[in-house]
Amino acid sequence: MRLEKSERLYEKACELMPGGVNSPVRAFRSVGGSPLFIDRAKGSRIYDTDGNEFIDYVGSWGPAILGHARQEVVEAVTKACEKGLTFGAPTEQEVVLAELIRELMPGMGMLRLVSSGTEAVMSAIRVARGYTKRDKIIKFRGCYHGHSDGLLVKAGSAVISNTIPDSAGVPRSYTDNTLVADYNDIGSVQSLFEQYKGQIAAVIVEPVAANMGVVLPKPGFLESLRILTKEQEALLIFDEVITGFRIALGGASAFFNIQPDLTVLGKIVGGGMPIGAYGGRKDIMQLVAPLGDVYQAGTLSGNPVATAAGITTLSILKNNPEIYQELERKAVLLKEAFQPGITAGLITVNQVGSLQSAFFTSAEVYDFNSALASDTKKYAEFFHHMLENGIYIAPAQFEAIFLSDAHTEEDIRYTAGVVREYFSM
Ligand SMILES: *Cc1c(COP(=O)(O)O)cnc(C)c1O
Repeated sequence: MRLEKSERLYEKACELMPGGVNSPVRAFRSVGGSPLFIDRAKGSRIYDTDGNEFIDYVGSWGPAILGHARQEVVEAVTKACEKGLTFGAPTEQEVVLAELIRELMPGMGMLRLVSSGTEAVMSAIRVARGYTKRDKIIKFRGCYHGHSDGLLVKAGSAVISNTIPDSAGVPRSYTDNTLVADYNDIGSVQSLFEQYKGQIAAVIVEPVAANMGVVLPKPGFLESLRILTKEQEALLIFDEVITGFRIALGGASAFFNIQPDLTVLGKIVGGGMPIGAYGGRKDIMQLVAPLGDVYQAGTLSGNPVATAAGITTLSILKNNPEIYQELERKAVLLKEAFQPGITAGLITVNQVGSLQSAFFTSAEVYDFNSALASDTKKYAEFFHHMLENGIYIAPAQFEAIFLSDAHTEEDIRYTAGVVREYFSM
């Protein structure tokens, strides 16, 4: 595989941007080698600047559920561009998108559009604190909620221990109000509620964790979170930035039939353009300015080009609900290819709908610690095997394989063959 142009660009990029990238995971640090610089993508395929073609299972980390550059979406965006790129004033498209989101996620009685998942999470937490008049929040080890200061925390092995910033530049005082529990361990949440009685504003969770690799909630875990937060008069926030419109049209709240108080969206909701959204119970969302005294704003929020992509993407999903059965079918087909690796005790595969991860460990993966048992060197080897055979998966173990509507059965069968070949080596 020729990578001359990518390598040359990478060298130059490294002089201009930290690590040569605008988001760290793109830099291939955990698998080695130099990142591919992408020229274009269409359907299930992505093409680098050297002209190499790959079947893409990253899908821009989630948004590309319809595949890349879906014609209807591109047309809608082009049309929107011609009408002007941004107005900083209300548009009809914002109303259409908000209505569409609420129709698909009825729990979002009122919502606000922002420009990224990070921004949406940050705002939802502010609202939760404003509503409950409490400061502390609980998050789970291994769940990612964007890069806002208060969420970049790490915790010692004991849940009760204080959290410390997981990034330089975050003052300790910014994370003092962030408590960390263990995913799938309701006891760890209970003990935090006991220790900080009446102080916890909200519990935020990825209903299916997808940022420590894909980790499913154990039966009863989300239900218990719902009951516990209600009892303690704290809000439950589902971070559905990945799961929203992916594991089901109505996201995880529909899939598991659990209604959080607030929901955070990103990725698919923008159809490839920068949109995030947060919303939920009307009595809570009415606290947001200008109605209430929780301040939150954005120059490009509800941008007309971005909303055009979001509306078109969600409409296609809504009008073609069979897409989800197809995604599930293709996902299972791909998952079966990992069976020899599972049988050999090399890997564990977690899958739900079009999300799956193959962890290089034989033990069950149900939380951050069990995910960390993975052999990341083995993953790096697997990644390069896939890449050399024309398949682009995430350049890091703790990420998901994202399937899209554009992946054909032939794509999956070819990919499955390459996976099987790896495990027979
Ligand atoms: C990607 C992601 C975010 C952050 O979204 P950005 O648009 O990258 O800021 C937040 N939460 C989850 C679950 C995510 O996967």
